Amino acid sequence: MLFSEFALWCEKIEQLSGRLEMIDLIAGILPDLDEEDLPIFVRYIRGLIFPDWSSVHLGIGPNLLYDAVAYVGGKKRSDLVSFVNQIGDAGKAVEAFLLLEKTQQSHLFSSEELTLADVHAIFERMADTGGVKSQKEKMRNIRLLFQNASPLDGRYLTRLMLEELRIGVGEGNVRDAIAKAFSLSPDLINRAHQVKNDLGEVARLAKYDPDSLQDVVIELFRPVKMMLAQAGSIQDMTEGSRLVCAEYKYDGSRFQCHLSGDRVAIYSRRLEDLTTALPDIAEQLRKVISGDVILDGEVIAIEDGRPMPFQTVLRRIRRKHDVAEHADQIRMIPYVFDILYRDGESLIDLPLTKRRHHLEAALTGCIAPQIRSADPRELEDFYYSALDAGHEGIMLKVPDSPYIPGNRGRHWVKCKPEVETIDLAVIGGEWGEGRRAHYFGSFLLACQDDQGRLLPVSRVATGINDETLALLYDLFSDRIISRSGKEVSFEPGIIFEVGYSEIQKSPNYESGYTLRFPRFVRIRDDKRMDEIETLAMFTERYLRSGSSTDSPLLMRK
Ligand code: AMP
Repeated sequence: MLFSEFALWCEKIEQLSGRLEMIDLIAGILPDLDEEDLPIFVRYIRGLIFPDWSSVHLGIGPNLLYDAVAYVGGKKRSDLVSFVNQIGDAGKAVEAFLLLEKTQQSHLFSSEELTLADVHAIFERMADTGGVKSQKEKMRNIRLLFQNASPLDGRYLTRLMLEELRIGVGEGNVRDAIAKAFSLSPDLINRAHQVKNDLGEVARLAKYDPDSLQDVVIELFRPVKMMLAQAGSIQDMTEGSRLVCAEYKYDGSRFQCHLSGDRVAIYSRRLEDLTTALPDIAEQLRKVISGDVILDGEVIAIEDGRPMPFQTVLRRIRRKHDVAEHADQIRMIPYVFDILYRDGESLIDLPLTKRRHHLEAALTGCIAPQIRSADPRELEDFYYSALDAGHEGIMLKVPDSPYIPGNRGRHWVKCKPEVETIDLAVIGGEWGEGRRAHYFGSFLLACQDDQGRLLPVSRVATGINDETLALLYDLFSDRIISRSGKEVSFEPGIIFEVGYSEIQKSPNYESGYTLRFPRFVRIRDDKRMDEIETLAMFTERYLRSGSSTDSPLLMRK
């Protein structure tokens, strides 16, 4: 497939609004793709260049990309940036820029048609280049791509490279399209996806080796998505005197540890490889593990035996230099609460209680304590002991539940005393005033609709101390895509958890809602963009508001 054909498909898909139409369209394309193009196409339409499990990234920021594209058109970066500022969408701005430059200066462009596989090979090369020469090398490759790109190709190349394709294709749509294209059951595809964590590979198997889909198993050093929790209450979980497993809810960072022989890897909830940032955690785990395992747990920072705020954990994880020195300053410990694989055997289909036996057999330490009870009072005591020890609350888990990667169901329920908080994408900001003039003083937040489009809901300015303000400046300064007066818009990708007192209807925001007294709580470094609050969840919160309570028995977020 030519890249230009891929771009045309993207344009078509982007114009569709109905889910079924989209599934039909994609299902119609997949059977015609060959073994090389099929996995690439499937990943790309979701805006992913590499498999979900891979921690490889292109590492291209908007500035480098604009420099390269402007160079191809024989212009300065500022010429292109002014297009971006006017249009407000980096992809469409590059498209308009190329359209103009191609008509005026066609001699600067070549007309070699790149295939999808050519483009992918260039991306792989770019991701592979590190070291001193890497920026130059990346620049050379980006120029090569845009020299051969039509304006429409430019739109989608830009969005892919900035990891912001946003044509509304969600994971569920692609899963259903694969099932439809190859006449397979959506459950089979779903299950294979949970285990393989790469829809590209699942599509390839669906076409070329469908029988093997039954038998896919999780593999060492290919992280799978983590099982997630819903908010709930002790009362709901123990209804009918049901037994539950309860553990402390640790407020740190989720990790997945893969260990085999001498090799150990630690992955974050977003499946980034954190092994070099957390050598002390790898070491602590290595000492207590026997055999080959995949473990799930939470790492927390402690001082004088008490858990430290989550921000401290984030500081350690984001550290790229002087890791050892900071490992001495900020002590971190892992709490393992699940095991997914042991000595060649996948454990995810076993009930939690059986997995726990495996966990206790494979590890001699670092295991999160667990109690089992059907008595709400006992669980309530456990809950208060968690709070007294400085933890966030408790997790209640259904004893016979399997481990379902990526699932946020009623098998795991979290119970914590909190003001209502919500996870939203940061899409813009405003420069501060006075002492804060060189920082962003407030941030514009958005939820997503069911197509993944971002809809503004609120601004947040309070709850940010000076240290966080500086951290936020560092994070966002390379994400600016347009400016207008004091307002800037950001390339989405960073998520804030925000507290609020109430949700109100508002004609001032595209979502139709806004937050009363929004307050910054933390950066959700562990969440991906498709995990932010949806408009439907927002509406549900609005309808439910006023019914929350502080008792752990009745609590529900
Ligand atoms: P939340 O981030 O509020 O949605 O809560 C779910 C998160 O709690 C998980 O993703 C884990 O990072 C964290 N967590 C802390 N302790 C546990 C535990 N014992 N079991 C499962 N998750 C836990």
